[in-house]
Amino acid sequence: MDAGKREGTFKPNLRQEGCEREKKKDERGGLGEMKAAAKTKTPRKPGQKNGSSNNLKDPVGVYCRLRPLSVPDQECCVKVINTTTVQVHPPDGYRIFRNGEYKEVQYSFKEVFNVGGTQKHVFDVVAKPLVDDLIHGKNGLLFTYGVTGSGKTYTMTGSPGDGGLLPRCLDMIFNSIGSLQAKRYVFKLDDKNGVEVQCDVDALLERQKREVFQTPKTPSSNRRQIDPEIADMINVQNNCKAEEVDEDNVYSVFVSYIEIYNNYIYDLLDEGPFDAIKPKLPQSKILREDQNHNMYVAGCTEVEVKSTEEAFEVFWRGQKKRRIANTQLNRESSRSHSVFLIKLAQAPLDASGDNVLQDRELITFSQLSLVDLAGSERTNRTKAEGNRLREAGNINQSLMTLRTCIEALRENQTYGTNKMVPYRDSKLTHLFKNYFDGEGKVRMIVCVNPKAEDYDESLQVLRFAELTQEVEVARPAEKPVCGLIPGRRFKNQAFREELSRQLEIRGGPIDGDRERSITEVLLQNFPPMSSCELLDIHDDQTLPRLIEVLEKRHRIRQMLLEEFTKNVHSVKGMLQELDSSIVSKENYAQVKMAERDKFIAAQKTEIERLEKKAKTLEYKIEILEKTTTIYEEEKRNLQQELESKSQKLQRQVSDKRRLEARLQGMVTETTMKWEKECERRVAAKQLEMQNKLWVKDEKLKQLKAIVTEPKGSKPERPSREKDREKPLQRSLSPPPVPVGCL
Ligand code: ADP
Ligand code: MG
Repeated sequence: MDAGKREGTFKPNLRQEGCEREKKKDERGGLGEMKAAAKTKTPRKPGQKNGSSNNLKDPVGVYCRLRPLSVPDQECCVKVINTTTVQVHPPDGYRIFRNGEYKEVQYSFKEVFNVGGTQKHVFDVVAKPLVDDLIHGKNGLLFTYGVTGSGKTYTMTGSPGDGGLLPRCLDMIFNSIGSLQAKRYVFKLDDKNGVEVQCDVDALLERQKREVFQTPKTPSSNRRQIDPEIADMINVQNNCKAEEVDEDNVYSVFVSYIEIYNNYIYDLLDEGPFDAIKPKLPQSKILREDQNHNMYVAGCTEVEVKSTEEAFEVFWRGQKKRRIANTQLNRESSRSHSVFLIKLAQAPLDASGDNVLQDRELITFSQLSLVDLAGSERTNRTKAEGNRLREAGNINQSLMTLRTCIEALRENQTYGTNKMVPYRDSKLTHLFKNYFDGEGKVRMIVCVNPKAEDYDESLQVLRFAELTQEVEVARPAEKPVCGLIPGRRFKNQAFREELSRQLEIRGGPIDGDRERSITEVLLQNFPPMSSCELLDIHDDQTLPRLIEVLEKRHRIRQMLLEEFTKNVHSVKGMLQELDSSIVSKENYAQVKMAERDKFIAAQKTEIERLEKKAKTLEYKIEILEKTTTIYEEEKRNLQQELESKSQKLQRQVSDKRRLEARLQGMVTETTMKWEKECERRVAAKQLEMQNKLWVKDEKLKQLKAIVTEPKGSKPERPSREKDREKPLQRSLSPPPVPVGCL
């Protein structure tokens, strides 16, 4: 690379992983420390968001704008409730009843712009903070979303005499950096989304080269005649400026304008000739990732612009090209997304305040993307057919992908899931992936036409827009400071102005005329030496003439000397005054530095406090971990004990079961024995009773015989009866019962 050139790359996110930054900080000091901070962007991996040093996040800012009805007594289905809420109600004949109730739905946004809301108000609320960020080196994305005819283009571009957000953003940018702009080609973009600084000589050579080769197409700020149509659009009369613009930086603005149609990217600033009779299909561009993992359109035209008029002229050129291409190629213009990119390069001046520091690390390159999205309605609305219907389907697909991405991001952030966000599914989401995944403000204006015919679609749009607000995007990192004393540009300029003023007061040589009037007049009147040759002894004229000339020369010399002394005194006095003013400015700078030091010290104390807190927490965690280990050990022991006891218990249970079974057997056996015994005894008792009955019968028979038989004969007891009584006596004694069984 040329020694005079230094290369820088698009650094929308100067965020660093905390530890890496700390490491580099230790390695370098002073300016080096700052350089380290700005050097690279650590690629962010999915799910690593919270590892960033910048943990602050902002939700996507969603605003709602209602356009007036085109016919005054048209049926309306959306009304503004207050500055943040709109209410949608179904039109007649479309009423949804739930439990007999009329269903109205309310949606809330950051702010709602009612029908009368002016372009200026919308700009002040929505876009101004983004431009402010752009000028302070941070990125922003702003898109308009809504169905066709809802006012997206009106909001973004505006109408003649009532410029929209785009011309107003340009106006604010150039109002803020107007006099601080670098000369053309000092900043030079490369084809890898990077930027380099050229030295003044190289920039001058390039200016001359380009002026020779391609004047007609490049709009020039020198051109006095502005197209009245453009003049009408940019006549915003806002005079809006960013605050605290770094005056020790030089700035350059680059714009590009692309269109995404049918998932193809087209460069609207491409200078290729367009044949209106036999149109050639435009070449689509591809998306690439730069070394900082930022997406960019490869080979896209980027034009350096120096004024609002020039920038808007470029936009208008792209707009015209878009219109012609749409007509020639029979496209539905409401089905394409248009993206106007404003890139701002800035680099600090050196210590003298005269030249740009040629250090690529110190270049800040920020970007504001203004996106006018395609109409969000369903395909059948435009009654497209064939190819157009297919193309329209793709457009819808990219909006669908946008919705899916937003939904996935929302889910991941709300529920802590790690769902893949399908950025790559469409060119639109892929291009803006960095905004959602990285840092920068994202804002969306949802445009609504309140007419009843749009009810269904407006409902979808509002629902999606309301959900989008739940997505959070990391806050952009602060721009690095270059470490040189602030106020360099104007200190030198002020010095030169003060020098001229003081010289003027003292009657000194302040400008060419004055200088000539005193010093030059004296020198012009400085008489030439006359001849001092004495040829004649009686020559009494030459010497007196010589004396006179010498006296005159001496007088003039004296006057010159006096003038010189006077000038020396005045310059001396002036230098002293300047010295004192510089001292006072330095004092001021020192006070500022002291304040900054104090702030840094306070931050350091805070960091120390947080570190201490972290250490205490780490210590506590350690103790808790130890306690956990002890408890786990105890738990293991108790579990072992429990296991052995349960085994023992099981053994006891099985023993008991066995015993029970044995006892059961014995009881059954004994019961059976006793039953048999009882049966036997009952039988014996029955026999005994029968015997007794028989004996009694016999006795009665004998008695009867005695009574009936003649007296003198003695009755005899039969021997059978005696024999029977003996075993009966034995059988009545119970059998022996085993003692163990009882
Ligand atoms: P879109 O880009 O969403 O398709 P346009 O911006 O082209 O819609 O708007 C359609 C018409 O409505 C245009 O004629 C435009 O001038 C008008 N319009 C849109 N919004 C407003 C508004 N807020 N105030 C006045 N007119 C508007
Ligand atoms: Mg439009």
